[in-house]
Amino acid sequence: MNPEEDTDTGAFRLEVRDWLAENFPTSLADNPARQAVDIFGPDNCNPDFLLWKVRLGAKGWTVPRWPQRYGGGGLSEAQVEVLTHEMGRIGATNPVQGMSVNLLGPTLLEFGSEEQKLQHLPPVARGEVRWCQGYSEPGAGSDLASLQCLAEDRGDSFLINGQKVWTSGAHFAHWCFCLVRTDRTRKQGGISFVLIDMRSPGVEAQPIKLIYGGSTFCEVFFKDVVVPKANLVGQLNGGWAIAKRLLQFERSGIGDTRRARSVRRLADVVREYGAFDSDGRLADADLRARLAAHEIDARAVALTNQRIALENRAGLDAGAATSILKNATIAADQTRMELIIELLGHDGLGWDGDAYPQEALESVRLWLRGKSGSIYGGTHEIQNNIISKRILGLPDAKP
Ligand SMILES: Cc1cc2nc3c(=O)[nH]c(=O)nc-3n(C[C@H](O)[C@H](O)[C@H](O)COP(=O)(O)OP(=O)(O)OC[C@H]3O[C@@H](n4cnc5c(N)ncnc54)[C@H](O)[C@@H]3O)c2cc1C
Repeated sequence: MNPEEDTDTGAFRLEVRDWLAENFPTSLADNPARQAVDIFGPDNCNPDFLLWKVRLGAKGWTVPRWPQRYGGGGLSEAQVEVLTHEMGRIGATNPVQGMSVNLLGPTLLEFGSEEQKLQHLPPVARGEVRWCQGYSEPGAGSDLASLQCLAEDRGDSFLINGQKVWTSGAHFAHWCFCLVRTDRTRKQGGISFVLIDMRSPGVEAQPIKLIYGGSTFCEVFFKDVVVPKANLVGQLNGGWAIAKRLLQFERSGIGDTRRARSVRRLADVVREYGAFDSDGRLADADLRARLAAHEIDARAVALTNQRIALENRAGLDAGAATSILKNATIAADQTRMELIIELLGHDGLGWDGDAYPQEALESVRLWLRGKSGSIYGGTHEIQNNIISKRILGLPDAKP
């Protein structure tokens, strides 16, 4: 127990330690790869990982801040700090990650009906269902409000016809939170937010192949898909406000410092590949200056993200400032990956095969994958538009 802790927090720490000692499978600590979660790929089926997920989910500690009636732990901020610290101490990670828990969960907590929360949140907390985000369409990306996927009123249900694109993880998702057009006469005011069961007849997800070799997203087609009206979140034609709030969760999540960003730490790559002078400094003064500038930026971004996350939990809404966070975090990520590739030199030219070290090949793929950071969640330019309009108060650019 930490000597500076109050009695309640200290007692909770002991409770957490005991519980983890009994419930966290030690085989996972010995080999962190066994806890890996690919949020847009296949499930991790390691038996100990699955056991850990069931146990932590049943305890409500996969979503420790959520109310207990929705499958959460109902913990205070101080208790969450303790839980996070104790899990970190023994190498335990949260087995429930991704859009379900980070985007859909907080949005339903804010806008969902009691029935929707009770139906959808507990399975999310237990990591039993995966959700995808049906926002973008072939003709509606940055200008999202021009989306055309149609939901026709059929009494107790909607009949959905249309197409989504770039839908991450749709090929593994059970459900989709989806923006649909319910009024063709109004733009933003004609959009509704609905929950679609991906196993419904008429839903088809086709994976799209990316430049780094993987397929994390899909085209999704809806043909005469019947969706009960009970799956409408909020008001009919009131989906735009919900969609924007969810994007704020997405952008602040992109700035979440706990994300795994790289197989290799930049400092390790510098040590292995850098050329050093007789004083032990990097010989290339220009590279040295760029590395130092990046380290300072990355540290400032990480600390700002931490501050905003804490403020968020204390009820202070970062609002449009999430756009600044998104751009700054992605820029720092991309700079780090560029520096790694530059340092790798010849090893950074590999794509596949035995001629290159495995870690270098993974770095190249991450560097390529990182290019998408300034596109998803709203492009870099769109964030700049939001910053100029909503934060700086500048007028809209006229064509
Ligand atoms: C890896 C990845 C995962 C994704 N996952 C999902 C997902 O799960 N669900 C989902 O719905 N979508 C997803 N997307 C789609 C993403 O949200 C869109 O790609 C993004 O909103 C941009 O839309 P677009 O691709 O249609 O580009 P466009 O909107 O056609 O933009 C093309 C270019 O024009 C610029 N531009 C457009 N309008 C303006 C303007 N007004 N001012 C200045 N510049 C402008 C853009 O910045 C961009 O550079 C994902 C994308 C990627 C790359």
